[in-house]
This record gives sequence, C-alpha cells and structure tokens, in this order.
Amino acid sequence: MKTIALTDFVAALPKAELHVHLVGSASVDTVLELSRSHPELGVPTGEEALRAFYDFTDFAHFIEVYIAVNALVRRPEDVYALVVGVARDLAVQQVRYAELTVTPDSHLLLGIAPAALAEALTAARDDAGAASGVELAWIFDIPGELGLDSGERTIDWVEAHAPEGTVGFGLGGPEIGVPRPQFADVFARARAIGLHSVPHAGETTGPQTIWDAIQSLGAERIGHGIAAADDPTLMAHLAEHQIALEICPTSNLRTRAVPALPEHPFVRLREAGVPMTLNSDDPGMFATTLNDEYLVASQVFGLSRVELVGLARTAIDVSFAGEQTKSALREELESFLAAQPT
Ligand SMILES: [Zn+2]
Repeated sequence: MKTIALTDFVAALPKAELHVHLVGSASVDTVLELSRSHPELGVPTGEEALRAFYDFTDFAHFIEVYIAVNALVRRPEDVYALVVGVARDLAVQQVRYAELTVTPDSHLLLGIAPAALAEALTAARDDAGAASGVELAWIFDIPGELGLDSGERTIDWVEAHAPEGTVGFGLGGPEIGVPRPQFADVFARARAIGLHSVPHAGETTGPQTIWDAIQSLGAERIGHGIAAADDPTLMAHLAEHQIALEICPTSNLRTRAVPALPEHPFVRLREAGVPMTLNSDDPGMFATTLNDEYLVASQVFGLSRVELVGLARTAIDVSFAGEQTKSALREELESFLAAQPT
C-alpha cells in the first residue's frame, strides 16, 4: 500500500474540534455578505480589504476587529447562517463532532431576543447535523472585556434558554485587566446546572491566570494555556489532573501571542505530559483550518502521523461528547489508523 501525502492523510483523518468561536469561524464570503448589507458599520466590503482588516497587530487589535465583525450579526437568521456555514466548513475537513463557542451576550446586546437566539441555534444545529453529519455541541462564553455584568447576563441566559447540546461554559476576550476570579460565582452557577468549565487562560498573560482559572473557576480544560510552559509545577498539575490545553497554534501566531511558530511552546508542554488538543479558534479571521493546525503539528512541531492520530484521540477523550459519540469516534479513528500503510 502506498503512503499517501501528509495533506491527504490529515484531510482524511476523522477529527473533533473543541475550540472554535462562531463569529471568528465565519468564512470571508459570509462576512462579506454581512458587511455589504451593513456598509455603515465599517467592516470592509471588498475581499482584499477584509483580508487586510484581519492582519492583527496584537491581541487587543484582534479583539477590536472581532467586536466590529460581531456587530454585523443583527438577526437570528444571521446566527443561523453562521452556524450552518461553520458546520459545513468543519464537515469537509472530516470533523465529526465540534464544540462551538457562542457568546450570547454579544448577540443579545445587539438586539437579538433571548428566546430567538436559542431557537436559531437549535434550528441550525438540527439542520447542520442533518445536512453534513456533524454533531454540534455548545459552549457559551462570557466576553471578558464586558466584565462581571456581562458574566451575569450570560449565565442568566444560559439558565433560562440553554439549547439542547449545551455542554460547557467559557470565558473569552482579553486577559489583561480581566481577572478570572471575579467570575467565580458565575461559573459556580454554570457548574451547578451540569456545565463543564472551559475558560480561556494563559494565552496572553502568565501562568497565574491558569492557576486562577483552575482554582476559582474549576476549569476542566483551558483555552490556550500556553503560558503553562513557564511553570513546571503547573505543567505537572495539568498532567496529573488531566486538564487539557486547547492549543491553537495559528491563532497564537496571528494575534502575536507567539512571535513565530517554531517558538510555540507546544513541544515543551507535550514533553511535560500535558494533555493537549489542536484547534482552529477563529479560522475565518486567522486564515486557517483545523487541517492546517494538524499540518503545523507535523511540519513545525515534528509529530509523526501516529502522533497526529494521538492528538485526534485526545480531542475525543477530553471532549464533552456523550459516551456513544465518543466510542463511535474512537472506533472510526482506529479503523482509519489500521487502514494506513505501516
Ligand atoms: Zn478562543
């Protein structure tokens, strides 16, 4: 049997995606459609200009742009179209299961009604599942830059409206000036209704933010968490308690959280036994795909094909999918591996 090219191998690998944001995933075409119907909102309406708009000078600039694009999402139909589009983009990459992060407060503040938001998500999840076979699950997160009030509005909405498939509660946005412990009570409410805690931490600040996320918010996985590489005690803690890091290499490059991919701490974290998954974060804005992230892991971080399969397996293991979904995914992955020439 002839060995297939790496890109074909990665493209055919059945995958789970655990860290991907709804608005940041929207394809350039989808965003152009929205920006052309709202030219007054300042998001470029031409393809080249939009791609240039996505050239981020730093993390704070990225957040500014994200907020501007989010402001284009005005109607429940827009939310529906985004979800269906993202599911389609994931399905062609052989993503079988995805935990999609949605920021309800950002949509509610722009006038989408609370119940209508939940209905749009439910309809999109059902239709996307039927059309592309991707199983979507929801993580609802707090836009950290809006502070504790937003955290409370987010959990209020989740308690009242969480659609079927809701598995997690998160915290995104900037870390600088947004201490994690202030959200302890909000996360306690989320955990009390059975949601998993998955805050971002240690993306643009140091290891203490990750400790805070674990100790104050009960984090079960960490969004990014790359700063853990600077703290051997923390890496040992993550390994011992199997708290996985959702690693998004291209995202870290684009927001300039790391200066260059070869300087990404992926290998140091891996050697310390920290469980990790590969993720695309905001593929539309970062001009990446989940497949590209697996290629980076191979070409930049030096992982073998069997090790790439191992990363895909970890994503299944640390996902919040039901046992039935997990065992079906594991089985598919093992048959994929068995079918590869040795
Ligand atoms: Zn993220």
